Amino acid sequence: MKTSIATVSISGNLLEKLEAIAAAGFDGIEIFEQDFIAHDGNPREVGDLIRSMGLDITLFQPFRDFEGLPEPLRAKAFDRAERKFDLMQELGTDLVLVCSSCHPAALGGIDGAAADFAELGERAAKRGLRVGYEALAWGKHVNDHRDAWEIVRRADHKNVGLVLDSFHTLARKIDPETIRRIPGDKIFFVQLADAPLIEMDLLYWSRHFRNMPGEGDLAVADFMRAVMATGYAGPISLEIFNDQFRGGQPKTIAKDGHRSLVALMDDVRRTEPAAAQKAPEMPARACVDGVSFVEFATRGDEADTLEAMLKTLGFQHSGTHIAKKLALWTQGDIRVVVNRETTGYASSAYTMHGTTVCDIGLSVGNAGEAVDRAQHLGADPFKQPIGPGELDIPAIRGLSGSVLHFVDESSGLKNVWGVEFTQNAGDTVDAGLKRIDHLAQTMSYDEMLSWSLFYTTLFQMHKSPMVDVVDPDGLVRSQALETSDGAFRITLNGAETHRTMAGGFLAESFGASVQHIALASDDIFTTSAAMAEMGFKPLPMSDNYYADLAARFDLDPNKLARLKVGNILYDEDANGSFYQFYSRPYAGGMFFEIVQRRDGYAGYGAPNAPFRIAAQKRLMRPKGMPHK
Ligand code: MG
Ligand code: MG
Repeated sequence: MKTSIATVSISGNLLEKLEAIAAAGFDGIEIFEQDFIAHDGNPREVGDLIRSMGLDITLFQPFRDFEGLPEPLRAKAFDRAERKFDLMQELGTDLVLVCSSCHPAALGGIDGAAADFAELGERAAKRGLRVGYEALAWGKHVNDHRDAWEIVRRADHKNVGLVLDSFHTLARKIDPETIRRIPGDKIFFVQLADAPLIEMDLLYWSRHFRNMPGEGDLAVADFMRAVMATGYAGPISLEIFNDQFRGGQPKTIAKDGHRSLVALMDDVRRTEPAAAQKAPEMPARACVDGVSFVEFATRGDEADTLEAMLKTLGFQHSGTHIAKKLALWTQGDIRVVVNRETTGYASSAYTMHGTTVCDIGLSVGNAGEAVDRAQHLGADPFKQPIGPGELDIPAIRGLSGSVLHFVDESSGLKNVWGVEFTQNAGDTVDAGLKRIDHLAQTMSYDEMLSWSLFYTTLFQMHKSPMVDVVDPDGLVRSQALETSDGAFRITLNGAETHRTMAGGFLAESFGASVQHIALASDDIFTTSAAMAEMGFKPLPMSDNYYADLAARFDLDPNKLARLKVGNILYDEDANGSFYQFYSRPYAGGMFFEIVQRRDGYAGYGAPNAPFRIAAQKRLMRPKGMPHK
């Protein structure tokens, strides 16, 4: 499998683009003509530069408004093509992409266009070049790959073939299965892009909202299965026009692109026999059974505050690490590690972010396979010196530099708590918290796609629709990723401005990721009462909130009174009901959430978020107040 990406997909100047593309592991590039023109260097130098970085030029693009023109425009189009052939030979690439004409004077007519391509093919053949024809979704006469294929078929020239682009086919809702009837050797090139489903003008949608396969809603895998069934053996290339990516980090975007292609081809390989040998073998997406532990890096007063809060949440200090300043706090199936080390990874995380979640342990079917798949997808393995008596637990770096450990039943890893920690005897009164319901990670809006791609390519998780959360000072986009049984849930919260609660947290913590941890109870009222006994101070909600609840839902007055006493928020969906209350924010805006889901409630209480955020902001004003 040869991977490629169009230079237009990445931000930066040509050199920055090339460096990012090479570092991400691509085999080649489609050179977008504008990127060449904007560069100061002759074509031969540019070609040599690209090859010196280990990249092939898989395609030169785009050549527009060629076919179906009347004279003298037709002759002029051929002249233009000859000049671009000169350029291609200097650059050192043999394939040009001709996209279907949008020229106002283009006449239409399959045979006329076929005759034009037959002649262009003849001219290209004299120079050892090839021509690929792509149907743009908004082409004047040709906007369907089936018509483009008919033109290529009638041109009947060995140097003329078809270019397929998943966006153009899928955006027009053309059945990708129709690709299966095209001979693979007549498909010269395949471009892939996904996109979110939005009703808008096709050209505008394509130029601004394309994204990586798996990041959008189009059936890119079905498209690619059909392509592979033809016997196609050429490059698989990304062509992404996206406003966010144009302003993003070249290295991150290139890495995401490569990750998306590798994951896509792995999916295709598993389900399309013709593709079985054509993509690298790797373990399937890991199945996550739950969060095994969450580790905080912290120090001094902030560590004391955190541990005091854990106590009021009903946690017990149940273990101490044999060699390091690590305390294990447990309740139900929940483990929280408080790390006060002044050397090593957690310490650097503290130095960078202040008190922060530096490590998440996930319980998976096979930890070694999870790391193997992650490495195929471009993640870095994480290693730290192992002290005496400590276990080597497989781990990788997450996106923000945080660490993800994988714990499974094999090789004693599950017993790490018994091996590395001495057990503290203590009272066993808890508050009825059973498990982690979800982890909420905060990032800038521009990074959300990278995060969701990271999780959905590595784990068996699906995305729920994005919801808007209204903060008094701006909008936060929230997207949940979940396993099908709900054993592992993450919410990604993308902040667009630093004035939002989420954005303020990002600014204060220099890009930390976990902002809140939601802990599940099976009886929220008992938990709330038990925590109150232990000195827990919930986030106070306004009377207005409860007056509105009474108006919105059919709640009996007794229940409403109990909600109000506990500062418990309430929501319902089509299945069931949801109860949640919050801790007060600490250490720059982190907090805990306590939840109970009843009867299969599937959401996260999004309708309550604006009121929760307003309440948090009341406490955090004047700025910096509850920072300690
Ligand atoms: Mg294209
Ligand atoms: Mg939450």
